[in-house]
Amino acid sequence: MEIKKGVAVSPGIVIAKALIIDSEDYRIPRRSIKPSQRMTEIQRARNAFTDAIGELTQLETAQDKTDEGKIKDIFAVHLRFLRDRSLRKRITDLVHSESVTAEYAVSTTLREIASHFTRIKDPYISERAADIRDIERRLLRQLLGKRREDVEHLTEEVVVVARELSPTQTAGFNREFVKGLATDAGGRTSHTAIVARSLGIPAVVALEDLTDDISGADTVIIDGNRGIVIVKPDQQTIRQYQEYAREFAELEHKLDAIRQKPAVTRDGTRITLLGNIEFPEEAQMVLDKGGQGIGLYRTEFLYLNTQTEPAEEVHYHAYAETVRVFKHRPVIVRTVDLGADKYTQSKRFAPEPNPFLGLRSIRFCLQNLMMFKTQLHAVLRASVLGEIKIMFPLITNIQELMQARMILRDVMEDLDDESIAYNKDIQVGIMVETPSAALTASTLARDVDFFSIGTNDLTQYTLAVDRGNELVSTLYSSVDPAVLRLIRTVIQDAHKAEIDLHVCGEMASEPEHIMLLLGMGVRTISLAPPMIPEIKQIIRSVTMEDCNSVARKILGMNSERQISNYLRDAARKILPAVF
Ligand code: PEP
Ligand code: MG
Repeated sequence: MEIKKGVAVSPGIVIAKALIIDSEDYRIPRRSIKPSQRMTEIQRARNAFTDAIGELTQLETAQDKTDEGKIKDIFAVHLRFLRDRSLRKRITDLVHSESVTAEYAVSTTLREIASHFTRIKDPYISERAADIRDIERRLLRQLLGKRREDVEHLTEEVVVVARELSPTQTAGFNREFVKGLATDAGGRTSHTAIVARSLGIPAVVALEDLTDDISGADTVIIDGNRGIVIVKPDQQTIRQYQEYAREFAELEHKLDAIRQKPAVTRDGTRITLLGNIEFPEEAQMVLDKGGQGIGLYRTEFLYLNTQTEPAEEVHYHAYAETVRVFKHRPVIVRTVDLGADKYTQSKRFAPEPNPFLGLRSIRFCLQNLMMFKTQLHAVLRASVLGEIKIMFPLITNIQELMQARMILRDVMEDLDDESIAYNKDIQVGIMVETPSAALTASTLARDVDFFSIGTNDLTQYTLAVDRGNELVSTLYSSVDPAVLRLIRTVIQDAHKAEIDLHVCGEMASEPEHIMLLLGMGVRTISLAPPMIPEIKQIIRSVTMEDCNSVARKILGMNSERQISNYLRDAARKILPAVF
């Protein structure tokens, strides 16, 4: 039995067999082998190289006939890599020295080389990383053959274990069989974590080397409440966890009872609870969980599942479907927030050296006007169907806001010319998720109807901590005094300007942070749908006086550790069963 500690990102407890997946959903059945099996694995690796070379030579000859010079060149480059003796030696040496399977050695070695290439400034060399990944896939195909099993054709319940998963992979899992997730990489607010939470799949990330210590079909316990993964648990631990799982299910059932009750504090302050969604189908879940509208629709997920840009009708139908669920309630459509961890860098851009500080989000839209206008056209057309609002992400200064608003006006004029109806008074807001936006909130407030504080990015940019990097996950905290000061400024400036203020980052899904947010003056929060009942229960258990006193105490504290301990104790007193 081995107990690994990571970061809890999606609550719940699950006990199931592990399904280990690797690049492109290749399933690597086993990593470690007995020393006596090393020669067999080395031979398998050699055969895979020979077969891959045979396959490529055939393809190269076929191209000779069609005379596609460029494709032929690619095959020639791949063949050169495959014939390179030092590469083969590196792989067989790894099998020998570490007693690992051929597929594991191939995958690890080629990824190391690809990642080395990506870091090289020369674009010719850095682009070769994609060739290396292609070669890895070709070799894995040879090695795994029929053993390759995609995650869509599962027949039994599993927990998926991977080095890392993309948000799209996670969203595509068959929920009937994938009951939990555990990854080596990632942080609490990485988008994979956010998707797991939205889908209600227990998940733990930042486990660093879990995939090295686990083999396919090992029994695993994922404790998404405490951030623990137990590999090959003993019988006593399994029994103990079956009991925890039962208690947790009971608590969820109790919370069901308050789903349709209002989110109101004991002394009568009403709080609006909205849902964060990535796909229109989730809108129904928000409603079922007692949410009062959509506070954040992450529309970039329309782009993540396809190789081509979605047509205007795809946008329109997605927004129309969402509004149908919440006809007379707000639906805040955030314009596409592509880039950083929400777009595979290899897919569209030449990889950026620093994607979180690069061409992401509103910056990307302002440089891809056709794409941006297509989306705005669709949102405006759907605006007559309900209470749609538009929200621009990652605004860092007033010029960006002005530019985005100007483009919106252009699209409105196009609709006028085409005699298409839309809501001319549609509300427009921005996400406040950069320190620069927070510090200039009083200026930005003059040109918007609402602010929504995106604590996920605000935290990463304020503390200079990558939200998805497990190596610095302990430094990432939305209750760091620096982040709280910025949040307080934004709340005060929104109140002064008399505009609406929401919080939609993951901080609003965290039970221990709710009293603080209310005490700081927040009255509308938008959160992962499965968390709505629990957060409502907390709101219904506190008084504003309690919350104000918590906020007063916290804002006088200078250390993150002191703040989190204080908040955890305060929340534990109110809802002992959750903590
Ligand atoms: C945020 O940054 O807090 C946010 C809600 O946006 P996203 O998580 O999609 O970046
Ligand atoms: Mg963000």
